[in-house]
Amino acid sequence: EAKSLGRNTYSFFTKEMNTVMLRRFEIEEQMHGALERNEFELYYQPQLDVKSGNIIGVEALLRWHNSTLGNISPGEFIPIAEHTGLIVPIGRFVIKQALRFLNVWQTSQHKKYTMAVNISPRQFRDLGLLTFIKDCLNASNITPSSLEIEITEGVLMSGQSYIHDALIEIEKLGINLSMDDFGTGYSSLSYLREYAFDVLKIDQSFIHGITTNEADCQLVKTIIVMAHSLGMTVVAEGVETQSQFTLLTELDCDFVQGYYFSRPKPAEQLLDFSVHYKP
Ligand code: C2E
Ligand code: MG
Ligand code: MG
Ligand code: MG
Repeated sequence: EAKSLGRNTYSFFTKEMNTVMLRRFEIEEQMHGALERNEFELYYQPQLDVKSGNIIGVEALLRWHNSTLGNISPGEFIPIAEHTGLIVPIGRFVIKQALRFLNVWQTSQHKKYTMAVNISPRQFRDLGLLTFIKDCLNASNITPSSLEIEITEGVLMSGQSYIHDALIEIEKLGINLSMDDFGTGYSSLSYLREYAFDVLKIDQSFIHGITTNEADCQLVKTIIVMAHSLGMTVVAEGVETQSQFTLLTELDCDFVQGYYFSRPKPAEQLLDFSVHYKP
């Protein structure tokens, strides 16, 4: 009985594994050369200032259109890019493109905006990363304080000294540091004590429930008070409804980002896009 169950489980597992492995293999294979084939594109999702109702900046979000596999979501390909190390050249492409676009956008609107870029753990093993960022800032004529680097707790967990050094250097350069997906990890609080985060992004899983779930609402309220008392700016991500927006305004959240205001958009569309929301 136990033996046959074991066998069935085993063969089922193998089949599943094969499908997952095959897909991974195909993605990995296609990812080599994807930069050269120009298959990556940055989309930009606006962030709005709750008080003024105006766009204050965007988050750059990577998109991959491959001729064989179609569109692959970052949730699927970023972990593979991390695993293979391909995230290093891909991540450099992201930084360069995002800052170039920021320059074009600021010039066309005669306004200053922020650009948030996600950086994953493997990218910090690239010891030339910060020099590269500095060069891109200079080439695009962008002040460091307009760039925001979003990291998740995963970056900090390894405790590697090169990560520590990179974060200190980011701080020194005057680039803003943002804690992404706050609330989903295990020890985010201790990291807030160690590094001077400028921005705290509350994870969308908390935002989804704020108008229906009392615990979520209380947690978000408390996170905002805590962040402010530590001198951080708060961004709520994944805002999808008017009532979530209204509640976040009442809770004194600073910035909001989500489908309710705008989905991530390609560069050309963002240049023509303007929204103004008062709750
Ligand atoms: P993230 O940095 O937490 O980005 C927010 C994700 O939430 C994005 O998914 C965005 O499209 C999505 N989103 C925004 N508003 C809403 C909303 O109202 N409702 C819902 N349901 N979703 C919303 P996306 O673009 O699929 O990216 C997923 C993750 O992939 C990102 O999470 C980030 O961790 C990673 N990623 C994306 N682009 C890059 C990149 O250029 N470099 C690196 N290293 N990671 C990236
Ligand atoms: Mg992010
Ligand atoms: Mg996030
Ligand atoms: Mg995330």
